[in-house]
Amino acid sequence: MSDDKDNHIEAHDHAVVLGAGVAGLLAARVLADRFARVTLVERDELPGDAPAFRPGLPQSRHVHVLWSRGVALIEELLPGVTDRLLAGGALLLDTPGDFLWLSPADWFHQVPGEKVLLVSRELLDWTVRREVLRHERIRLRSGSPATGLVGGPDGRSVTGVEFRDGDPLAARFVIDATGRTSKAPAWLAALGHRAPRSPGTTPVSDTPAATTRFRPIRRAAGRACTCRAARTSRAGRCSYRRTAAGGW
Ligand SMILES: Cc1cc2nc3c(=O)[nH]c(=O)nc-3n(C[C@H](O)[C@H](O)[C@H](O)COP(=O)(O)OP(=O)(O)OC[C@H]3O[C@@H](n4cnc5c(N)ncnc54)[C@H](O)[C@@H]3O)c2cc1C
Repeated sequence: MSDDKDNHIEAHDHAVVLGAGVAGLLAARVLADRFARVTLVERDELPGDAPAFRPGLPQSRHVHVLWSRGVALIEELLPGVTDRLLAGGALLLDTPGDFLWLSPADWFHQVPGEKVLLVSRELLDWTVRREVLRHERIRLRSGSPATGLVGGPDGRSVTGVEFRDGDPLAARFVIDATGRTSKAPAWLAALGHRAPRSPGTTPVSDTPAATTRFRPIRRAAGRACTCRAARTSRAGRCSYRRTAAGGW
């Protein structure tokens, strides 16, 4: 969805955010306090009516956890969003009461009094996006991959964003939030700038992820139980606590 009006906005009061994942959405919300117009540019066509899988977020097939500080910060920017997530099926759990996490290294340290939000990534993105796009200064341009940056006449600044189809979008300020597939280092190099060090060029983790559902087959004292992966015959150990909502 392209919007020609974007190109008539005074560039000096226009910011562009590339990527409408959680980082891009929250960045747009922050910039809306400073700029008259913020345009969120997203490669994918975004699901409108309900949370749904999209290619730009392949990790959304895995369960996601938000720790309390993250929940609080998003709530601060978008008041009421936590209640909307809970209404959509997210769970807010006490740790260590309701939630334990065994990593390859060890059990995560328990933080009494803290809460974690368990939520599908599709619900999180969809809910945050809906709240952010309520803001009158924020506009979405979806199905529109950015293909480069426009260099300023001084040879030092970035003054806009390029697209494969359509005119460039002029902007005073551009944020790259396109995640780990970011092309910003190459785009900056094409303008003659040195690429900044970023997670886009330095792997932050080599830990593979896999998600499956387990059902408890033998309960023991305390929180420990023996579980079996619902779709395989391999048994493993996990910890559980039945939640108020009836889940494990
Ligand atoms: C298996 C797995 C499990 C995870 N679990 C958790 C968890 O439990 N808790 C947690 O906090 N984090 C978790 N993470 C990490 C979390 O998913 C990432 O940190 C987060 O997605 C980064 O958000 P982002 O907005 O920076 O980037 P992304 O979510 O990658 O969003 C980037 C966006 O940019 C768009 N885009 C890309 N290129 C372009 C372009 N050229 N033009 C326009 N748009 C473009 C993409 O379509 C996408 O919408 C997990 C990650 C993985 C892989």
